[in-house]
Amino acid sequence: MSRVVDADGSPSSSEIAPTGSGPRISSRIRAATSTWCTPSRSPTASMCSMTAMRNSRKTSSSGCLSATRPNLLHINVSLNRSIFDVEVTVDVLVIGAGVGGLAVARSLLAAGHQVRVYEQAPAMRTGGAGLTIFSNGAAVLDDLGISLDGVGGRFDRIDALTADGRLRLRSDMAHAAARYGFPSRSISRRLLLERLSDGLPGDLIRYGTGCRAVNQDGDRVTAAFDDGSTATGDLLIGADGHHSVVRRALWGDVPIRTATFGTWQALSPVDIELTRTHVHLMITGREGACGLIPAGDGLLQWWFDVRWSPGEPRPAAPLAMLRRRFGHWASPVPEVLAQASEDDLDFFGHHWQKVRRVWGKGRITLLGDAAHLMPPTLGQGANQTFEDVWVLGRSLAQGGDVAERLRAYERARYPHVSLVSRLARRSPANWRIPPLVGRLLSETSQSAMLARFSNRLTALAPA
Ligand SMILES: Cc1cc2nc3c(=O)[nH]c(=O)nc-3n(C[C@H](O)[C@H](O)[C@H](O)COP(=O)(O)OP(=O)(O)OC[C@H]3O[C@@H](n4cnc5c(N)ncnc54)[C@H](O)[C@@H]3O)c2cc1C
Repeated sequence: MSRVVDADGSPSSSEIAPTGSGPRISSRIRAATSTWCTPSRSPTASMCSMTAMRNSRKTSSSGCLSATRPNLLHINVSLNRSIFDVEVTVDVLVIGAGVGGLAVARSLLAAGHQVRVYEQAPAMRTGGAGLTIFSNGAAVLDDLGISLDGVGGRFDRIDALTADGRLRLRSDMAHAAARYGFPSRSISRRLLLERLSDGLPGDLIRYGTGCRAVNQDGDRVTAAFDDGSTATGDLLIGADGHHSVVRRALWGDVPIRTATFGTWQALSPVDIELTRTHVHLMITGREGACGLIPAGDGLLQWWFDVRWSPGEPRPAAPLAMLRRRFGHWASPVPEVLAQASEDDLDFFGHHWQKVRRVWGKGRITLLGDAAHLMPPTLGQGANQTFEDVWVLGRSLAQGGDVAERLRAYERARYPHVSLVSRLARRSPANWRIPPLVGRLLSETSQSAMLARFSNRLTALAPA
């Protein structure tokens, strides 16, 4: 392959990696003395032998990753009293610096890999209101050295109500928190992105660098960017969301279905009793659905789901429309609408894409919405993205052929994420379960459901 140039035009750091045939895992081994561990030993085998130790690596308590240490993984292996200092890297290109791209970069850097992230936006996203992080996503974030203690709003209960205020169904989220060790929270996307990028090397993310094509041969994968530059690595992760260029390069224009509804949502100060509690309300009626979640610091995450189709003109005054449509619902809906302003509101139309059994090809894989776009009815899109990050990290830590490790990751994720995706498509959160039926359902069923959604909570690593 000809000279590799990074997006900034400088020679790629991937050039330090040795070339060669077979699995192209960059590896440098310094052996003091051994016939077992020498430079001629295959990188694959070396990587395998590192797995257990690498799995136990943690980010530093300051949350600072390779900013304070080299990207290369240094492991002292003691064998027959010989000490070997072994360094192993995989050179990873990540396309997209949303929640998935940042989380996977963090995970792979902590494991000692070399990572570069390319983001088309000129800077980190600051909007997007709030996200619900359930125990499964919070567990992965904790593994990445990100504590959510004191961030956003914790909720211990989800009460599903009728529009006139009767209880349809109650879910005990404190039960899930006690079982898995991680409470559920509503947290602003901006804060989450800040936490995810905290301690990452300043030059890790190339903003304003949109990917337009990806290519691979047996050994390397190359991304081409809008500015004409290219970057080459051992593997590439398409974390480029809904309109993924990487997905299109792999699979062409796969059908993306339009959900029948969209969401007007906001994160704003709302001075009502609910904001000071740990209760998440889900209210459903003929006019649509409403969600209200305390998000900490006097903020309320609130949204209204309404019927929607893509060609439909948006109302000129959405808040007035919401007040007309939902203003007669039981308290606290009218109070929320009374305190809202037009500027608080953002609209998102929803889409769904069938989850493929195989997401990637060769040295390229997908992660997050690029792989499993779904409506946010279960609040699992980002949580499932964090699950991807956890499984991918563990799969790569097993060493061996890069492509095989990527397929193992996809296989391990498929049963969980495809279940979530199918349920989210049917929009159960918006079902109007009669209160009588709701009483028959266990308040702790969410805990069991979360385990079915999760690789992390059930510790199902790829085989
Ligand atoms: C209204 C709404 C509410 C939601 N609520 C929740 C919730 O409560 N809980 C939950 O878990 N999930 C929720 N989700 C889903 C969640 O937002 C997504 O699942 C999550 O953001 C996916 O992360 P991602 O990194 O895959 O994609 P994104 O966050 O979309 O990030 C993709 C990144 O890639 C960049 N990019 C795109 N194309 C290129 C390119 N060609 N080159 C370089 N960069 C590129 C984009 O600019 C972006 O920064 C919600 C979604 C919506 C719309």
